[in-house]
Amino acid sequence: MPDKVQRVKGVNDILPGEAKQWQALEGVVKNVMTRFAFGEIRPPIFEKTELFARGVGEDTDIVSKEMYSFTDMGQSSLTLRPELTAGVVRSYIQNNLQQLSPVQKLWYEGPMFRQERPQKGRYRQFWQFGAEAIGSPNPEQDAEMIALFYAILSELGITESVTLKINSVGDSESRATYRSTLQEYLRPHLSALSETSQRRFETNPLRILDSKAPIDRELVKDAPKIRDCLNAASDAHYKQVLRMLESMEIPYVQDDLLVRGLDYYTHTIFEFTSDALGAQDAICGGGRYNDLVKELGGGDVPAIGWASGIERLLLVVEALKPHVAGSELDLFLIVEDDALRIPALQLIHQWRGAGLSCDMDTLRRSLKSQMREANRQGSKFVAILGAEAFKNGKVLLKDFDSGEQEAVTFNNVVTRIQQDV
Ligand code: ATP
Ligand code: MG
Repeated sequence: MPDKVQRVKGVNDILPGEAKQWQALEGVVKNVMTRFAFGEIRPPIFEKTELFARGVGEDTDIVSKEMYSFTDMGQSSLTLRPELTAGVVRSYIQNNLQQLSPVQKLWYEGPMFRQERPQKGRYRQFWQFGAEAIGSPNPEQDAEMIALFYAILSELGITESVTLKINSVGDSESRATYRSTLQEYLRPHLSALSETSQRRFETNPLRILDSKAPIDRELVKDAPKIRDCLNAASDAHYKQVLRMLESMEIPYVQDDLLVRGLDYYTHTIFEFTSDALGAQDAICGGGRYNDLVKELGGGDVPAIGWASGIERLLLVVEALKPHVAGSELDLFLIVEDDALRIPALQLIHQWRGAGLSCDMDTLRRSLKSQMREANRQGSKFVAILGAEAFKNGKVLLKDFDSGEQEAVTFNNVVTRIQQDV
């Protein structure tokens, strides 16, 4: 026997049973995005590697070790998108979207690819939905973005188990001040820091704050806070955002160690975590990125965005309210006599065309097996097509819930069922 081909490590098959939950979540996302007046954008799955190197940053985990890059026939280096902010911004610039309106509010959903160690809630192909608002520098845009994700959580009924952590890294002047303040604090302990953090001490010292190494964590506990290094404008922006969140009754906690892994952030950064998850507890991350559009060759346009991991979000939904999978099948057509296969097919084709969700057996199984199948699928009704009834243009329609049954003409089946469901 030939070997079975196995799926690639760290990727998932989403099977129909589970896909129902995905569809429900996607429905909520689409709905809320529309309510907040965001338009959907669907950029390509792969881009030039250069886009991520420049847009995400060489020193990030993503670019330094997680990208799926390959060379195509034209010898270009391409990369399966590890995130979509860079792609959305590239598209915004390339398609001159600023000409359509000075603020572009965009949302997306799709698979992302990162070569990391697979574990629960961490995969090599995973799905994100996210949103970007490009064009406004003002705090109300930050607040609207956060409110947007919070509205999705509310709709899913999971705000209780979720915490919004927020911080500000300020503008470039504030970050420069903080950078030297932090370096000054850490310098005497430099040799005690983890290897990665020692390397980052010069290149990207802020990242030392979110190091997972116990030795680093101990040291940064008493480090000076970035909030205390914000210049007046950055401080004012941040405080406004907090006040606006309060006005919408969106609870938050300030997290002085939150810096987020990406290089492009300015001002507000945030993360939503859930206590229903284990080590991989972040369900959404985002922040303002006022310099990215310019760095990718566009105008001097401020922006803010976030992305949420669908697999993790569904783990939270599942933990809080285990799914009761309701059947969506209205009708199962049971065919008593194989000679009636053609009229049966005609009938089901008609009913489906009229909007009913219907199924029938195509294995020509016994009456009993067909009945069992209808049951297994949790169909609301069964219609039995027998030789006698067929002559009269009727089927025997049985309501699975009430047990009632009656002979109904072909043309009345749809109305009869639609009355009920
Ligand atoms: P983490 O700290 O867990 O690695 P991250 O900072 O790399 O997350 P982002 O790049 O901000 O994550 O992506 C946004 C969201 O996408 C995360 O909050 C998480 O829900 C999800 N996510 C990120 N990486 C993965 C992955 N490998 N598998 C599944 N979901 C992921
Ligand atoms: Mg990561």
